[in-house]
Order: sequence, then structure tokens, then C-alpha cells
Amino acid sequence: MIVVMKRTATPDAIQQMARTVEEMGLKAHVIVGTERTVIAAVGDKRNGAKELLESYDDVEQVVPILAPYKVASRETKPEPTAIKTRGLVIGGGHIGVIAGPCSVESEEQILLAAEQVKAAGATGLRGGAFKPRTSPYAFQGMKEEGLKLLALAREKTGLAIVTEVMAPQHVELVAKYTDVLQIGARNMQNYHLLQAVGETRLPVLLKRGPSATIEEFLLAAEYILDQGNQQVTLCERGIRTFETHTRFTLPLATVAYLQEKTHLPVVVDPSHGTGIASLVPSMCLAAVACGSDGLIVEVHPDPKKAMSDGAQSLTPVAFADIMARCRLVAAAVGKTIG
Ligand code: PEP
Ligand code: MN
Repeated sequence: MIVVMKRTATPDAIQQMARTVEEMGLKAHVIVGTERTVIAAVGDKRNGAKELLESYDDVEQVVPILAPYKVASRETKPEPTAIKTRGLVIGGGHIGVIAGPCSVESEEQILLAAEQVKAAGATGLRGGAFKPRTSPYAFQGMKEEGLKLLALAREKTGLAIVTEVMAPQHVELVAKYTDVLQIGARNMQNYHLLQAVGETRLPVLLKRGPSATIEEFLLAAEYILDQGNQQVTLCERGIRTFETHTRFTLPLATVAYLQEKTHLPVVVDPSHGTGIASLVPSMCLAAVACGSDGLIVEVHPDPKKAMSDGAQSLTPVAFADIMARCRLVAAAVGKTIG
């Protein structure tokens, strides 16, 4: 249920109502919007709960949330959520751009990549330190050493760091270095991991599992939101279909659909979505055109020498070119980018 508070309700009255909701055995999520504050009351509700809550003076009305994802739903919060960390802004009319190599490989590589993507206009730096690889024999990432290099790149450039955390026991360590915790596609339904990042107050970039339905995707986001972390960004990174020309199939209708169903910002990853560097620029333009709140793009100083995902990584020159073209499309859809 959504408990819609009257505009006149004081912060104290809102907290008191949240306590009342919890005393009824429900979980209370206070969601402060520009228009109104609501309390999402989630859990098994008993008979008469709606009428009881509506009897309080500070309550405007109580309405059921029909979607299975309660806190993520647009019914709960009609206005879009924007995520802000350092210079990276995702949503609310701004397209956040996160770029960088698939993996952190060396100090020289990540510092150069950071300078190059910053010069082209990115405000977030990606780079995996813990790498989920299909083969156990493939490069697994530089781990803490890689995290330290990302933090060094942030110190030198001011870019916000986005890096993956693969296990609940690593959340504390990764959170020490990063600005945004990335949950990889393979871990979208690792519920303990989702809860662990939900317990932090860092923004989370949640990638769609390659075989997950949109409802499963939103319910995964709900695991993070349910822990009280409201800073979740959804990332469409391609799904597995019968098609083999591209690494995955990148369904951009997801962006438009999600924006009808949820207030959370949605970004697109055209690198993993296609697996082919030459297709990435077109998909960046299309993502911006169809309403994406951000892009996450693999860019490597020398893609041919990349230790992972070189085939889908843009050169810094190609990235700068696509940023310039995306700026034109962003302006056409009334948004800013960078
Ligand atoms: C990544 O972005 O580094 C990554 C591994 O992507 P995904 O989880 O979408 O495969
Ligand atoms: Mn990659």
C-alpha cells in the first residue's frame, strides 16, 4: 500500500506514521518526492489496514500498489529518480556517461583511459577489478590492487568510479574505493549480494541478467531498495536469444517500457549488448534517442591489447566521436549529456 501523506504533514508526523506502519507488521519506506511524501507499506497486510491508516489526520489517502515490485514502481513515486555522485548524474533530464576499459590492467592503462574518457566528456570511469569470467582460466582481475588504481584515477581526474562487486563478503572492501557498486549480469539474482549492497548507502548499478524477464529484473532491484538503499540504476546490457550474430541481443524497448513502470533511472550498455565495437556507436545514438538516462561503454587505450573484451571496446578516438554525436541526439530529445 502507498500511504500518501498530506502536504501539511511535518517530518515528525511522517516519521510517526512510518512507526505506526511498522507496528502493524509492515515495512515502511519513506519516499520523499517533489510533489508529496509517501510511505510505501510493504508486507502481508491484515484486513482493515487501509481503513485504519486512512483514519489518521496526516494521511491523505491509502492506495494499493498493484505491481509486484513495490518501492521501484512508478505508482509509488511518479516522478523520476536521479542518481548523483561526484560529477556523474544519471536521470532527471541528464544522460550520465560511464566509460573505460572492461578490466583494470595496470596503472598506466587505467590512468590513460581515465584521461581519455574524461577528455571526451565522460563523468564516470568503469573498470573491473573483480571480473566474472565465463572461463575459470581467463584473467580474473587485479582485485584490491585494481581498486586502488581506480581510486588513484579518481584522484587524478575527479571521475566517479563504477566497478563490480561479485560477492557479499567483498562489499565492504569494494565500497571503500568505489562511488558506484556494479552488480554484474551473472549476479542479478544473487539475492544475498543484492541485500548486501542494499545495506550500503552507495549508488548501485544493477545489470539485467541475460535470461531475466523485466519483472525479475525489477524484483532484483526491489531487493536492494527493500534494504533502504534508494539509489538504484537499472542497466540493459542485452539478453540471450537464438541470434548469434551479436554477442547478446540488445532490446532497447526495455528502456521505454521500464520508464513507464519504474521511477528508477535506466542506462544502456551497448558494448556487452552487441559485443562488436563497430556496432556500439549506432546503439549509443539509439539508446539516447529512445530515452536512456545513461550509457556505460567500454573504451580501451589500445583495444587490440585488451586483456578482456577487446573486440567490443572502442578506441578513445571513436569514443570522442560518438560523444559528439550523442550530444546532438541528446539535445534533440531535450536532455544534456556527460
Ligand atoms: C562488465 O560490465 O564489466 C560486465 C562484466 O558486464 P555484464 O555483467 O553485463 O556481463
Ligand atoms: Mn566487459
